[in-house]
Amino acid sequence: MKNSLRAHNTLRLQSSCESLDSFDSVERLQQCLQWSQRFSAEALVLGYGSNVVLPAFYPGMVLFNRIMGTEVISETDDHVHVVVGAGENWHAFVEQCMHQQWYGLENLASIPGSVGAAPVQNIGAYGVDVSQWLIQCEVFCRETRQCYHLSAVECGFGYRSSIFKQAKKGKLVILRVHFLLNKRPQLQLTYPSLIRYVAENRLPQTPLSIFNAVVAIRGMRLPRVEQIGNAGSFFVNPIISQVQFDELIARFSCAFDHYVLPDKRVKLFAGQLLKLLGWQTVRRNGFSLYSKNALILTHDGEGSQSECLQFAKNLQDSVRGVFGVSLTIEPEVITGITEPVSC
Ligand SMILES: Cc1cc2nc3c(=O)[nH]c(=O)nc-3n(C[C@H](O)[C@H](O)[C@H](O)COP(=O)(O)OP(=O)(O)OC[C@H]3O[C@@H](n4cnc5c(N)ncnc54)[C@H](O)[C@@H]3O)c2cc1C
Repeated sequence: MKNSLRAHNTLRLQSSCESLDSFDSVERLQQCLQWSQRFSAEALVLGYGSNVVLPAFYPGMVLFNRIMGTEVISETDDHVHVVVGAGENWHAFVEQCMHQQWYGLENLASIPGSVGAAPVQNIGAYGVDVSQWLIQCEVFCRETRQCYHLSAVECGFGYRSSIFKQAKKGKLVILRVHFLLNKRPQLQLTYPSLIRYVAENRLPQTPLSIFNAVVAIRGMRLPRVEQIGNAGSFFVNPIISQVQFDELIARFSCAFDHYVLPDKRVKLFAGQLLKLLGWQTVRRNGFSLYSKNALILTHDGEGSQSECLQFAKNLQDSVRGVFGVSLTIEPEVITGITEPVSC
């Protein structure tokens, strides 16, 4: 198929677009955007396509960010200020940090995708969010065609959220990301499964051990995107009130895994709710839930966005119907033409 995006989205959905290009500089980005505007076409910036649900046909230009490079801006005995091109591979950058003995990002090892997309949903894992180490983003505004810097505060970070996903959605292109990292190790060992793994394997408490432990745990719990289509967690873990939680445990005779937040609301685990309802054994049009982790929707067929979203809706309706809990899709659902078109 012409301009197929199948190899460019980790869910491996059938998808294509009007045109494809990439940029490795802001000048090239501007040229591409001007070109697409001449045809009044839309333009979508992607990194590695690991957090998107692409439509069967995107009626515009898809632009891959390939701005590369890592540069040290300044350093002291305690910290290093590094700026990284948005097109760099996230895991490769975290690995580079380990080699350079720059610490802070080790809990975020093995997350697929680009450095530039990391701030978009404020990636997080094992008790750490990227916003804890990010100091600013260099961005290009598609409306004013200006480049400027946004501080971490201006990025409006929240749980799996930022200004790039909210008020400025689709308006800013992240060009480079600045981090302030530690040169002296300061472990972030608060997440139960990580603590358990380190203890059971008698690992030394060093950043490199944490990095290796995270890589090992993720290797056991997550499907490899090269082997099976998926976009990581498909639903955000739902947060409900204490009252709603009390009602839930009174109605059902099962122990719900949960986590009480500082504001007393309760975070449930979407994967457990789906598993309790038996969805882990269901398969439709090549879509199913991963056997080792029901939060991950996998795809190994010829499915498209509409079939994926139909399956997701079945899951959402079922959880809402039985438990009264709403599940929100985590990856970005990209608008386009939903039915496959022949090119
Ligand atoms: C197996 C697996 C495990 C995962 N585990 C985690 C996890 O533990 N924690 C977590 O938080 N996420 C996780 N994810 C989700 C995903 O890896 C991250 O969201 C990642 O940052 C997406 O990077 P990407 O380059 O693939 O983004 P893409 O999917 O290409 O894009 C995602 C969104 O960001 C926008 N975007 C991309 N680049 C730019 C840019 N330069 N400027 C502006 N907007 C941009 C796109 O338009 C799109 O809206 C996982 C995904 C998979 C497949």
